[in-house]
Order: sequence, then structure tokens, then C-alpha cells
Amino acid sequence: MRAIAKMKPGKGLEMVEVPVPVPSDDQVLIKVLATSICGTDLHIYRWDSWAERTIKPPMVIGHEFVGEIVELGSSVHGLKVGELVDGEGHIVCGVCRNCRAGRRHLCKDTKGVGVNRDGAFAEFLCIPAVNVVPVPRSIPLEVLSCFDPLGNATHTALQWDMIGEDVLITGAGPIGCMAAGIAARTGARRVVVTDLNSDRLELARKMGATRVVNPTQENLPDVQKEIGMTEGFDIGLEMSGSPAALSEMIANMSHGGRIALLGIMSEACAIDWDKVVFNMLTIRGVYGREMYETWYKMTGLIEAGLDITPLITHRFPSSEFQTAFELMDAGQTGKVILRWD
Ligand code: NAD
Ligand code: ZN
Repeated sequence: MRAIAKMKPGKGLEMVEVPVPVPSDDQVLIKVLATSICGTDLHIYRWDSWAERTIKPPMVIGHEFVGEIVELGSSVHGLKVGELVDGEGHIVCGVCRNCRAGRRHLCKDTKGVGVNRDGAFAEFLCIPAVNVVPVPRSIPLEVLSCFDPLGNATHTALQWDMIGEDVLITGAGPIGCMAAGIAARTGARRVVVTDLNSDRLELARKMGATRVVNPTQENLPDVQKEIGMTEGFDIGLEMSGSPAALSEMIANMSHGGRIALLGIMSEACAIDWDKVVFNMLTIRGVYGREMYETWYKMTGLIEAGLDITPLITHRFPSSEFQTAFELMDAGQTGKVILRWD
């Protein structure tokens, strides 16, 4: 089968021919129909220091996908050949304290599809049956291929009750924009989104942000006044990975404000702990999605009318992956879809 792989350390990716994986007793073989490219895939393409530490070539990459079941391992039940499925990209150990308690998203030993083992940018993918998530055929394939990042946005947005609250989202990447759409639909009063990139801020506005802010041109205290806020933001969703954005968020929260941190900081960074202590802030780190409650919730949100298609800016056949990665590398894209069917 054809697969996009990192064959050796260094920049770039190759389309290679590899054997179709064979499912073990508890695994499922999936024919991949569509995939979307994640920021993580871009790190692997660029071969930055994180990729160098984490990725062991040769390896097929990719973890955002939708496909159809073509074969079931001998002990798999509850799934059918021909079913349309997504897959949770975190394969958990099943035996640690949290896994045994049913809190699989807190597993201490999770392995990433397309990060720690072969991934989904291929004609076929094999994953444990427990990671397979059946999805409705009424949702477009390209939207289903984005369920992994939509899950990150959903899981982060659901950390705190947002009904009637003023929400600040830093970073209008695909995930920040999805979170803006979720906050707007789930009853937030004001949804303010910051980014340095005006095209991305425009996308956030399309997704339902009530006010967008470029912090190099405006400051948040002025914006708060302009839109009638007096005590600061109640909820913060950090989705940029920028230390500057996190500092700004912490400085603009209300007393008792609650922050969920999804963005991955490129380096260790200092924050003003006085603001955390004296303003009595809660800060919670968020990783991945909840298995499988987040999948249920986001499917529901899409079926209830949440539309993430404005965030899909490019579509290519998988054979044109080089062009797709070059465009993403240049920072001029939203979600980029590769079709395998
Ligand atoms: P992205 O890189 O596409 O978007 C980040 C955005 O932040 C960009 O648009 C960038 O212009 C903006 N930004 C940079 N500096 C800023 C600043 N000072 N103020 C405001 N905005 C600023 O990323 P994405 O795919 O949307 O993902 C969002 C973040 O979540 C990334 O950091 C990603 O690595 C992280 N992530 C974490 C998890 C997890 O499980 N914790 C999962 C997926 C992604
Ligand atoms: Zn575990």
C-alpha cells in the first residue's frame, strides 16, 4: 500500500510502498478515506527538536483520519465490516491506575498513532478495536477527518461551564477557531479571540467570535472596556502555545477565573504567580480528548449544527502531499485535507 512516511532523520516526508498491516486478535483494519494534517505532522515534516526527540524513523505518520472497516481481528465484537469510523489516536496501556478507573485520557503510558507507532497517512491503518469510533454517514468525510482536533477543542471548551460567561481564547489556529464556535453555541456571553494573523482572526469571527483582537494593534484592557466588561474574563482557553499570550490571559482574568491550557509552549516560560494567587485563578492542563465522552459530545455538536467547514481551506489527493505540506509550512492554511479514496 502507499503511505506517507518519515524514512530518515531530517526535513521532509516520502510516499513509500509498505505492506498492508495485519490486524491482531483485538485490532481492526481500516481502509482510510480522508485524512487531515495536524500541526504535529508539520513538526515531524520540519524535523524540529521535539520531532528529533520523539520520532523513530522509519515510520508512517498521521493520526487525523476517517475510514471504513475492512477486517476485524478474531476477538473483536460490536463492530462491523463496512462501518464508517474515526479513531482515537491515543492508544492507552489499559493497566495503570487511571486506565483501570475508566479515566483513559489520564493514562500515564499513552502511545500516539503516527507519533510513537505507524499512523494513518496510508491506504490502510490497523488500530485496537477499543480505539475505533463509529461515526454517522450524514457528516461529510472531510469534517469527520478533523474530529481529532475538534475533540481537542471540545474537550478544552468543556472543562468549565461557559453558560453566560465571558470567554477569552488566545490563538485562532484551527483548534482556537473550533473552540470559538463551541463557546458561541454553548451559551457564552462574549467570546473574544486573539491572534497575530488577521486571516485567522477573520476565520474566528466566521466561527462565532463576538470580538477578535490582534494584540500587536490593540490591548485587552481597552477591548474589555469597549465591549462593556468590568471585571475580566471568567474563562480562558489558551490555544496558541505562546508564552506572551498566556501572560496576557492571566493579566486579564476575573477573580476566580478558570483557565484551560491546551497550547504547547515551545519552551519553559515564567508567569506572574502573584496574579494566579491573589486573583485566585485555576489553571488546568488539557491533553487529548476524553475517551469516549468527547467523541459523543462533538458528534452531537456537529449534528446540532456546529459548522467547521469554514476552517477547511485546502483539499488535495494524497499523491500531492508535498504541495500540501509546503503550503502548511508557509503558514497560509487552515485545515488541509488529503483524500485517499
Ligand atoms: P496553530 O499553530 O495552527 O495555531 C496557533 C495560533 O496561535 C496561530 O494562529 C498563531 O498565529 C497564534 N499565536 C501565536 N502567538 C500568539 C499570541 N502571542 N497571541 C495570540 N495568538 C498567537 O495550532 P492549532 O493546531 O490550532 O493548535 C493549537 C495549540 O494546541 C498548539 O499549540 C498545538 O500544539 C496545541 N495542541 C495541543 C494538544 C494537546 O493535547 N494539549 C493537541 C493538539 C494541539
Ligand atoms: Zn494507562
